[in-house]
Amino acid sequence: MPESYKKTKPDKTYDNIIIGSGISGSGLAAILAREGQSSLVLERHYTPGGFTHVFKRRGYEWDVGVHYIGQVHQKRSFIRRVFNYITAEQLQWAELSDNYDRIIFGNKSYDFFKGKENFKNKLKEYFQAPEDQKSIDKYVNLIREASRTSRGLFATRVIPKLTGKLFGRFISGKSKEFYSKTTREVLESFISNPSLIGVLTGQFGDYGMSPGESSFIMHAMLVNHYFDGGSYPVGGSSRIFDTIEPTIKSAGGDVFVNAEVDEILIKNKKAVGVKMVDGKEFYAKSIISSTGVHNTYNQLLKGQHVSQTNLRKVNELKYSVAHLCLYIGFKETPEALNIPKTNLWIYPDNYDHDENIRKYLKDPENEEFPVVYISFPAAKDPDFQNRYPGKSTIEIITLTDYEIFKKWESKEWKKRGKEYEDMKEQYSQRLLQKLYEQMPQLKGKVDYYELSTPLSTKHFVNYDHGEIYGLEHSPERFDSRAIHVKSSVKNLYLTGQDIVSCGIAGALLSAVVTSTSLTGKSIIKKIAKSGIMDKK
Ligand SMILES: Cc1cc2nc3c(=O)[nH]c(=O)nc-3n(C[C@H](O)[C@H](O)[C@H](O)COP(=O)(O)OP(=O)(O)OC[C@H]3O[C@@H](n4cnc5c(N)ncnc54)[C@H](O)[C@@H]3O)c2cc1C
Repeated sequence: MPESYKKTKPDKTYDNIIIGSGISGSGLAAILAREGQSSLVLERHYTPGGFTHVFKRRGYEWDVGVHYIGQVHQKRSFIRRVFNYITAEQLQWAELSDNYDRIIFGNKSYDFFKGKENFKNKLKEYFQAPEDQKSIDKYVNLIREASRTSRGLFATRVIPKLTGKLFGRFISGKSKEFYSKTTREVLESFISNPSLIGVLTGQFGDYGMSPGESSFIMHAMLVNHYFDGGSYPVGGSSRIFDTIEPTIKSAGGDVFVNAEVDEILIKNKKAVGVKMVDGKEFYAKSIISSTGVHNTYNQLLKGQHVSQTNLRKVNELKYSVAHLCLYIGFKETPEALNIPKTNLWIYPDNYDHDENIRKYLKDPENEEFPVVYISFPAAKDPDFQNRYPGKSTIEIITLTDYEIFKKWESKEWKKRGKEYEDMKEQYSQRLLQKLYEQMPQLKGKVDYYELSTPLSTKHFVNYDHGEIYGLEHSPERFDSRAIHVKSSVKNLYLTGQDIVSCGIAGALLSAVVTSTSLTGKSIIKKIAKSGIMDKK
């Protein structure tokens, strides 16, 4: 377990200082440890792991930002190899059902099945018109093609900036064709059935942007990521950090929680260290921020030491969406309650996600939720009953607007007053209603529930607008030259979900990309060839 900065202070020097202990920060520290470099990882929360942390209350435990991860159960996949590399194979995965996602519109439901062929065949059962069937084949091929081109796009995040300026378009190759268009633009170019588009984009909550707004490359990467199903970490999502930490320590690194960085220290135009909120200073050769592009430039650099043009470009990048999450506990096992492993995506009886969101944002208290996602962690984790015998948990998520909660932002956690609590209760009841509509057997069985709002996300993980996925995944984001692992300050690097994309895999890949830039070595090749392979 990491030390608390409140009790102990770091008393040695390290090669690197990494701000934030999420999957990108801790993953990067572990990759650098395998290069013999020590890192001091400073985490502001009282628990490590960023969005991979869990919280415990009233005898239950819930994950906050991990519900399923694709490709980790495929032993040869790159992402599985990265996990093996940073955890010395200590992290195990449990696959969800073959039917990993269920997309529900009104009283119709559509199941997504593991395996490209199964995925297609199942969809063709729902959409039998010859034109739709052709569109489904074309769609699956296009998803593969577009996600393959993303490699070129992300290479531009790591190549020297001048090379990027001169040859960026050439290096990003065909990806521009996909990232510069919205998901809707691409799909409508060959699919005429709006219901089919609604179903195919039924996982849009995984990147938090509707088809009319999101970049098609993000949609493609996400769908491709889950084509072969999804998995959950055995022992819960906190196992992710717990299995990475020993690798960080193996090279003399340390992780401190309750350790909030106030400022990145710059001397002679170079990043040299960090100043903590208590005023103490720590120094290292390289400083890496995993706290997001906005936090790094505006909070930690305080808008200084970067050119105004660069800062303007950063500030043009918009925040992703905020969310509400209802955490629920039951005093019965998933089997007794008949709880599945399949994720549910519940929509209004209207297949146009953009319209549903527009309507909802105009009148969030009365309009239907534009998306409700239900996850069943206790059923997904084969170890849950060992830790919480006879119990189950469920999480229900919907999107929301930070502005609704802004008026309470200066109030302390747990002390935001009756109006806030009443509003939370109303949202909780509406979300419970959605659960009962799908699973009436759960009525009367809820033992405990608690709602998190965008203020919780801001309070615990330091996203200023309660955004869950860092920067929004729009065509503008992917086109921006302001996103690069090397900041405009020497020795200051960035990593995390803003560099590649949101998602555990995206954030972890950003750690690979940042480590490549920092060490000048081909870390990708090393991991791909790494000797540590599964014995299973
Ligand atoms: C509700 C929800 C559900 C999700 N579900 C999934 C899923 O099922 N599958 C999936 O793949 N992805 C999912 N994601 C996305 C995924 O969790 C994130 O994209 C990923 O974890 C981001 O990792 P990161 O390292 O970039 O950032 P983070 O995990 O946010 O880490 C950044 C860290 O920096 C710390 N920090 C910030 N400021 C400071 C400071 N000044 N000093 C010190 N520390 C600081 C923060 O406290 C935080 O711990 C979900 C996210 C959410 C919110």
